[in-house]
Amino acid sequence: MRPELSEYTPIYSGKVRELYEIDDEHLLLVASDRISAYDYILDTPIPDKGRVLTAMSVFFFDALGVPNHLAGPADDPRIPESVLGRALVTRRLDMVPVECVARGYLTGSGLKEYRANGEVCGVPLPEGLVDGSRIDPPIFTPATKAAVGDHDENVSFERVAEDVGLELATRLRELTLDVYARGADIARERGIILADTKFEFGRSSDGDLLLADEVLTPDSSRYWDGALYEPGKALPSFDKQIVRDWLTKESGWSTDAGTPPPPLPADVVERTRARYIEAYERISGLSFADWPGGAA
Ligand code: ATP
Ligand code: MG
Repeated sequence: MRPELSEYTPIYSGKVRELYEIDDEHLLLVASDRISAYDYILDTPIPDKGRVLTAMSVFFFDALGVPNHLAGPADDPRIPESVLGRALVTRRLDMVPVECVARGYLTGSGLKEYRANGEVCGVPLPEGLVDGSRIDPPIFTPATKAAVGDHDENVSFERVAEDVGLELATRLRELTLDVYARGADIARERGIILADTKFEFGRSSDGDLLLADEVLTPDSSRYWDGALYEPGKALPSFDKQIVRDWLTKESGWSTDAGTPPPPLPADVVERTRARYIEAYERISGLSFADWPGGAA
């Protein structure tokens, strides 16, 4: 008999995920089907998104070969039936308060900074780069976590060193770039570009530094279809483009409307759901039909 979710104490509710306490040493990390676009959490969930992202995280935790926080399999008996497939049992860590971002391509907030001063998080880049330019070697561009509803703030390596000490900051940079390179290699073999990604690390009770949170999911990473890659052109997001296109081109809503976006039509939901599954299957080479949970 699996436990009920109500048997666990909720300890945190994020934009798309929830955290419960299983016991002193373990947490249940639950991914919802909520999706965000243009800084809004949409009213319409994408069925199976939580399961797909959980599957992707597990695939990468396995494939990366880096010590991580997983404390059980996807069908662990501690996982309630109601969240099976979109929840993971993890070790409870003392999280390092740094969003460890690696960028192998210049876009988004990195591009904005580069255009303002030629560097990103204090890392100088060559002149003449455009939206989507490759950054070789990839760079560590940490951020500090903002309060709910705010944007994370990009900071320099020196600032991280001030906050957590030079030794830990140096390890975070090394680990982040190493894990990014591994993830990018895996994606590249499947024709997908991992433009950038964010990791979180935490310390276990015995002092080990472990890769935590979700890893290399479309929510924590920017994936592009390698076949469409062309620097200088804003590249469509592999997972959210269908939603974004509908919102800005067809729904009549606009990003500066100051009102939340309208509900998504069924075909946009279905195509987005298929996109997430495609991303998972393409990158992992596994079948989503084999993943636990799903329609009972
Ligand atoms: P967002 O990621 O949407 O910006 P958020 O980070 O506040 O928002 P979530 O990512 O949904 O929200 O929440 C997950 C939380 O769980 C994060 O605060 C993360 O640091 C924390 N976390 C992840 N893994 C562990 C772990 N093993 N032990 C303790 N906390 C963890
Ligand atoms: Mg988070």
